[in-house]
Amino acid sequence: MENKKELFRWTAGEIKQNKTNPQELILSLDDRINLIEDKVKAFTKKPDVLPDAVPQNSGLLCGIPVSIKDNICVQNEPTTCASKILSGFLAPYDAEVIRRLKVAGAILWGKTNMDEFAFGSSTENSFYGPTKNPHNLDCVPGGSSGGSAAAVAADETIMSLGSDTGGSIRQPASFCGVVGLKPTYGRVSRYGLIAFASSLDQIGPLTKDVRDSALLMNVIAGYDPKDSTSVHVEVPDYSKILGKDLKGLKVGLPKEYFREGMDREVKLAVDEAINILKNKGAKFTEVSLPHTEYAVAVYYIIATAEASSNLARFDGVQYGYRTTNREPRTANRLIDMYKASRGEGFGKEAKRRILLGTFVLSSGYYDAYYLRAQKVRTLIKRDFDEVFKGLDCIITPTSPTAAFKIGEKTDDPLKMYLSDIYTISANLAGIPAISIPCGFNQEGLPIGLQIMAKPFAEETLFKAAFAYEQETNWRRIRPTL
Ligand code: GLN
Repeated sequence: MENKKELFRWTAGEIKQNKTNPQELILSLDDRINLIEDKVKAFTKKPDVLPDAVPQNSGLLCGIPVSIKDNICVQNEPTTCASKILSGFLAPYDAEVIRRLKVAGAILWGKTNMDEFAFGSSTENSFYGPTKNPHNLDCVPGGSSGGSAAAVAADETIMSLGSDTGGSIRQPASFCGVVGLKPTYGRVSRYGLIAFASSLDQIGPLTKDVRDSALLMNVIAGYDPKDSTSVHVEVPDYSKILGKDLKGLKVGLPKEYFREGMDREVKLAVDEAINILKNKGAKFTEVSLPHTEYAVAVYYIIATAEASSNLARFDGVQYGYRTTNREPRTANRLIDMYKASRGEGFGKEAKRRILLGTFVLSSGYYDAYYLRAQKVRTLIKRDFDEVFKGLDCIITPTSPTAAFKIGEKTDDPLKMYLSDIYTISANLAGIPAISIPCGFNQEGLPIGLQIMAKPFAEETLFKAAFAYEQETNWRRIRPTL
């Protein structure tokens, strides 16, 4: 085992195996945070260091620090979605995933930075300022769960939770060189997750390796009557699936994903990963997902429509920020107050999405945009149903490029939206998908491999991802901070 003093570098699996003292562990993480958090800025609220309050139980995550994306409610803690409009808001209750973490004995380890309301692919749309990529501080960590991914990559935490609506767990996992899983829609309760697009959102783990991802899923997955979209399907013990061999695993390579637009170094790394999986017994075939080209357009119609409706509740009355401007502008002072609070409280990207979403839902355009997008969403879902008849999983890159520079795409929303081109379809289809590190480019930035599977077949993802991870050493290449 590595140097004892560097406990912060350990995985949850290693900590459990070594029966590491939780007090020493959190002091080690605290030192790490004090040393590097000013550079990385992964947290909206840094962890409270309470060595005496370490839970004593025999839960699966006993004494393991888990950092929480700031759109997940933790009772009596600030929950801001990295938005000014929620500044000062304290969540009145725990999200279901938080309740489960507490029962499992986890230590809640701070709230992590994100794009405002999870709108973005770079964590630059945060009221608190951007998070930096630990592998290169001039680059973005990806988004919107950039704080959760960066905190894991920089060893400021052991594991974290993110949320994924169109790629927000997988894309930052890929950019930061960690493992990120978006579960099947309905697998993990959304109760207490502040909604972005309710038909797409899922909470999932960001971890240092596949074993930890399975461990965290064992705690958070499962039916919850408080979430009407939660599905009553038994949860297997994901840890038991690790180490199973890949003989006969049928893998599809969708030709629509391997076309122009993909960075050469990303392509090379993914090809190399495919070879490794072939050697482990997986059988590859080319498949077609013919409606892939519509995914980004469909996503940005449905996601903004749902977001505009979900964000209507932030009115300056019930939660967080209220304008201090008491000057009435019209005879209707209540409406003035709503408008000023929302105008001052939401950032630029949130406003853009509220406008776009309201437009596609408006009576004259509903059929032409929203309804149409829903129909194409069904076609995208059917593409997957069709190919999964003969396959166990699908492999693609997670993102067409490695992490880009801070500021590089902020003035061009379309360019930013295109960075999710490979991740969005899994949300539209509701299927599970994982991103695991599969190499580095010449600038030393991580590259991610995405594996997708049938609904509720997270085991297949873990089996394939673990087998690949065992053959490679990417996760041991840590950022030098
Ligand atoms: N980047 C995508 C967006 O901006 C996805 C975000 C997410 O998954 N929350 O909407």
